[in-house]
Amino acid sequence: MRVAVVTVGDELLSGDTVDTNASWLCNRLDGRGVAIERITTVPDRIADIARVVNEHRAEYDAVIVTGGVGPTHDDVTMDGVAAAFGREVIPNEDAAAWIADHGDYAAADLTEGTTHLPAEARMLPNPEGVAPGAVVGNVYVLPGVPAEMKAMFETVAEEFEGDPTHVEEVRTSEPESALLDRIEAVREAYDVTIGSYPGEDVRLKVMAADAETAVEAAAWLRERVEQ
Ligand code: AMP
Ligand code: MG
Repeated sequence: MRVAVVTVGDELLSGDTVDTNASWLCNRLDGRGVAIERITTVPDRIADIARVVNEHRAEYDAVIVTGGVGPTHDDVTMDGVAAAFGREVIPNEDAAAWIADHGDYAAADLTEGTTHLPAEARMLPNPEGVAPGAVVGNVYVLPGVPAEMKAMFETVAEEFEGDPTHVEEVRTSEPESALLDRIEAVREAYDVTIGSYPGEDVRLKVMAADAETAVEAAAWLRERVEQ
């Protein structure tokens, strides 16, 4: 399964807020064997959201959008997603019923628009807040508040699956440029993919379809690099 993540928010693009939602989602999806092929951040602008969602929904098996969900003036994500599908944003009965059952609010007290979703959307209840999410076609719309986003993702996590890869890590004090021969050799000897991440030391990520291959290839490398 191939997925694109779209994070929405002017505050992400100005650097006021660090986009932790994208990295959290990528981590959860990667753990389920899903290939995340794009992270795109767009401003709180209907046309930008609509264009990116429309491109991505055609290209990927699923798109996860976070942020800009709710009733305030800068929350336009539902409008953008609806526009990507050529649909209206309309009052959603399931959302109103769920909030009436679970919230501390009477539906009438809610800010207008809280229960408005793209037409024919599947409503996703918000276990940690009020504003609901939605599934429209292959597009999942989740809130921006990290705790709400995480809780809502867990309710649909099983709809995302692929072939999990097994990962082993090897660390070495050698510079990356000195490791090229052994990286090439381990790739020839085993059916593995190698990620190389320089920092204070170099972290080699050994990935394979089965655990045994990953463990053997990592052991092979450990014997041949300086710790
Ligand atoms: P929003 O849903 O865009 O109104 O955002 C609600 C809150 O969640 C704000 O405090 C945002 O800064 C925060 N937030 C939104 N998107 C993200 C994100 N991608 N990563 C981390 N925090 C976010
Ligand atoms: Mg926002």
